[in-house]
Order: sequence, then structure tokens, then C-alpha cells
Amino acid sequence: MRLRNVKGSRETIAANDRVIEIGTEYKGRWHEVFGNDHPIHIEVGMGKGKFIMALAKMHPEINYIGIEKYSSVLVRALEKCEDYEGSNIMFIRMDAEVIADVFEKDEISQIYLNFSDPWPKDRHAKRRLTSKEFFARYDRFLKPDGRVTFKTDNRPLFDFSLEQVTLAGWKLENYTYDLHHSPYVEGNVMTEYEEKFTAKGNPICRLVAYRERP
Ligand code: SAM
Repeated sequence: MRLRNVKGSRETIAANDRVIEIGTEYKGRWHEVFGNDHPIHIEVGMGKGKFIMALAKMHPEINYIGIEKYSSVLVRALEKCEDYEGSNIMFIRMDAEVIADVFEKDEISQIYLNFSDPWPKDRHAKRRLTSKEFFARYDRFLKPDGRVTFKTDNRPLFDFSLEQVTLAGWKLENYTYDLHHSPYVEGNVMTEYEEKFTAKGNPICRLVAYRERP
């Protein structure tokens, strides 16, 4: 993603009640933050927030947290939220490397990863949000029946991710190399990047991963 330094984005974020910076102090207390016991779904690397905002509007019975590293991107998500009165969406500005410090065991029911940065160099593989190192982090706070859903148009990253699911000891519930021409397309909510790459004719890959508990 091309990043522009959006003037005043840090201040805008600091003044917004929906945003938490890092958020380790809320570990185990996210239901209190939302004021209810509804399930919590997160999107890691949310970007400008189109996807998670659409889900929050469609599902008031679910709480959503969008996680984004950069203030200059997060402010765009906040703009989308300006006229939304629902209290089921929050944002955390942080690097997902510390995500396991932010959520307690079994606190999260669903993880979405959409068009995650590919980090093409081998030496940066651990930074990919679908690396086995990240699956080990997700394992620490995702409910036993929780799912990780990953979409991308980047075939090498997708193939890497399929391997990593297995290496991490997780299972594949399903996967497709062409989501929009598969049965899984029903109910699909497009992300900003998905719209862009679909318009270019790129097929969208998607996998759903889970782990089996003894
Ligand atoms: N999910 C959105 C979509 O599909 O339109 C945005 C995709 S964009 C290619 C990837 C986003 O993930 C960027 O906004 C980037 O800043 C964010 N990101 C990448 N690595 C991250 C990390 N380690 N922690 C938090 N956000 C991250």
C-alpha cells in the first residue's frame, strides 16, 4: 500500500473514542469495552476499513475490531465510521507482531486477514500474517472453534499460506483459487483491495483454517 503522511492523523486518532493505541491494558476485558458478551471478530491489517465497517453494519450482534499499523491509513477507516451510530466496532493502532499481548485466551471468535502484505523476500517470511509464527500467535487467543479466513490475489503468498497452515498444525476447512467463481462467494463482502484486483481480472484466492482439539 502506498502510504501518504496524512497531516494530523495521530491527533485525529488520539481524539477518537473508537480507537485504542496498542491496547494491552484491555487484554481479557474486551467484552467490557463493548459492554456486552457478543462474539468478537477481528481484521488484522484492515487498511481503510471498508470490509470491517460493512460487516459491523450487517451484524450488530457481533463486535468488530479493526487492527492497523499506520495512523495515516486508520484515519480513513474513522472517516467511514463518522455517521455510524452502532457501538459494535473499535480500532486498534498497532503492529500485529504483538497481537497475542492484546487478547486473552479464547477472547476472539474469528480472524480475518485480507490482502495481507506479501513480504516477498524469504528472509521476511516471518512477517507475513499467514506465517506459522503468526498462526502460533492466533492460537493463543482464538476460541477453539474459531476460524482464520484469508483472502488474497497473490498466488505465491496464497501457496505459502496453505503450507503454513499445515506446518502450524492447523487444518484447512476449505480453500479456493477463484473465490468469485466458487460456491463460497455467497455472502462474500469485498474489501478495498479485492475490488481493485477483481476489476483488473485477478482471481481471488481464499482459505479458511481451524485447529482440531483433542
Ligand atoms: N485489508 C485491506 C483490504 O483488503 O483492502 C487492506 C490491505 S493492505 C494491502 C494491507 C494493510 O495491512 C495495510 O494497511 C498495512 O498497513 C496493514 N498491515 C500490514 N502489516 C501489518 C501489521 N504487522 N500490523 C498491522 N497492520 C498491518
